Amino acid sequence: MTELERLRHSSAHVLATAILRIWPEAQFAAGPPVEQGFYYDVELPHRITPEDFERIEAEMKKETKANHVFERVEVTRDEAIAMAKEGKLAALGARPEPSKFKLDILQRIPEGETITIYRNGDFTDLCAGPHVMRTGNIGAFKLTHVASAYYLGDEKNPQLQRIYGTAFKNKTAMDEYFAMLEEAKKRDHRKIGQEMGLFAMDPEYVGPGLPLWLPKGTAIVEELEKLAKETEFAAGYVRVRTPHLAREKMYATSGHLPYYAESMFPAMELASEDSSSQPSTLNSQPEATVATDRYFLKAMNCPHHHRIFAAEPHSYRDLPLRLAEYGCCYRYEQSGELFGLMRVRSLNMNDAHIYCTEEQFAEEFRAVNEMYLKYFAIFGLGKYQMRFSTHDPAKLGQKFVDEPALWKKTEDMVRSVLIESGINFVEVPNEAAFYGPKIDVQVWSAIGREFTIATNQVDFAVPRKFGLVYRDRDNAEKTPLCIHRAPLGTHERFIGFLIEHYAGNFPLWLAPDQVRVITIGDDEALTAYAKEIHRELRANEVRADMDLGTDPIKAKIANAEKTKVHTMLVIGNRDLEAGAVSIRLHGKGNVGAKPKAEAIADVLAAIKERRA
Ligand SMILES: [Zn+2]
Ligand SMILES: [Zn+2]
Repeated sequence: MTELERLRHSSAHVLATAILRIWPEAQFAAGPPVEQGFYYDVELPHRITPEDFERIEAEMKKETKANHVFERVEVTRDEAIAMAKEGKLAALGARPEPSKFKLDILQRIPEGETITIYRNGDFTDLCAGPHVMRTGNIGAFKLTHVASAYYLGDEKNPQLQRIYGTAFKNKTAMDEYFAMLEEAKKRDHRKIGQEMGLFAMDPEYVGPGLPLWLPKGTAIVEELEKLAKETEFAAGYVRVRTPHLAREKMYATSGHLPYYAESMFPAMELASEDSSSQPSTLNSQPEATVATDRYFLKAMNCPHHHRIFAAEPHSYRDLPLRLAEYGCCYRYEQSGELFGLMRVRSLNMNDAHIYCTEEQFAEEFRAVNEMYLKYFAIFGLGKYQMRFSTHDPAKLGQKFVDEPALWKKTEDMVRSVLIESGINFVEVPNEAAFYGPKIDVQVWSAIGREFTIATNQVDFAVPRKFGLVYRDRDNAEKTPLCIHRAPLGTHERFIGFLIEHYAGNFPLWLAPDQVRVITIGDDEALTAYAKEIHRELRANEVRADMDLGTDPIKAKIANAEKTKVHTMLVIGNRDLEAGAVSIRLHGKGNVGAKPKAEAIADVLAAIKERRA
């Protein structure tokens, strides 16, 4: 956890303390930090609403004022279970009912892992930590909203109330955050997306969380894909295409089943077409039930790419092999978690998997970072941070694959590349993926809001599970390392982010409406001139249209401004005579007249260079 996350997670404990002072019977499940704050899931007969916030916050204030120490205590499994049975976990003391969710969580902790409880004042919670030193370190906090969530995300489990809040080191930081949120509201990607006709949600026919890209949104999608394809081609990637689903065996091998099952759409059952499951004449089983096959929609592209690697023999000369695909994945996000384009159930990912030798790893990883920096420059992202999650040697074989030497080697390589390239990063222990270190890339939009846009992972376990090998110089078979990377994240999340970042005023290369040719009047010669300009722009793949009629020029311009047309080429009789056009830019007004050929060349150059 970062320092701010520690503070926010500590605030979740303070929230639970406060809720228990008001409703001692409350049963708590999980209370982690999240992107913009924290939450705690609670089961309580009273339905908490924003009207209760003031009262809860007042109790929280008492707890931070008391400045209690967060005390860490190691306990045995039996001690912890005994406490849970007496209702003492996530509680202020013994209670008539057991702390049922904590009891369940305890039972899920792998054998041999250290169990800790944390205390602040008379509140005790089962928790792996870490925490800030004292409750008083939480300088400012605020409860923000309530949602509902099933325990462990499974709708067969009880439904809980998820109380969200945020917290900061001090009040100034919190005030800045809420001022930024006000600005973000004006830039809400759902609002702008609808006004500009970028995407639509159709929960009734298509389903919740499954966005439809309208023509104007698709223009942005395709510009991003073009950027990715050009960039990846230059960096030596090759492109592949894979189906949207695969058999159960695929995900049983990758480990998505059962560990990731709750985030996947349920299986499709089909009668088996497998010859191996046909009744054999030698060993006929008359009572055999009909064999079935299970197919799953893919939640990630990696397993398919691994099978592409496996489809052909490889020698060390083929490596690094960089397989790229804008792959469409499906994730079963809970309906309460769905949010515009930011949390969806179908996602198009700027994915690639780099298979390389250990010797090649550092160079490949460096090149991936350079690609990020190149993209940040194109999108004008001045502030970013890479969050480097590493393993905990004490948890090898449990939380992390038991490869101590590989962990050390890859983490050292990642760290030194990050330092050498002068990349802004923070190291977070104990948060790596099971199969290798990972890097989450956080960026800040123009108004200072933080987004996690992408994750890179190093994987030294799954390629082995899939039996991927290459023949090395010494003719021995070796398993490649795999780097998962997706610098532009998913179209959904990235475009959601860009809408806020640009407030919908996209640079010319990304703008859904790039150029509009506008005539002053409908004179025949003028109309012919407009059509000629329009035709030339379209021939060069510029998204150009025309506004020809007799509407007053003011109305035509207002209309173009309203729909955020990037460049307006206004032509009147004087322009026609001079073979010129008057150029207006969205939000900037008139920037002067230019000869027609020069104006068109400018437009083409700005698009080609992806000028800001
Ligand atoms: Zn905790
Ligand atoms: Zn992957």
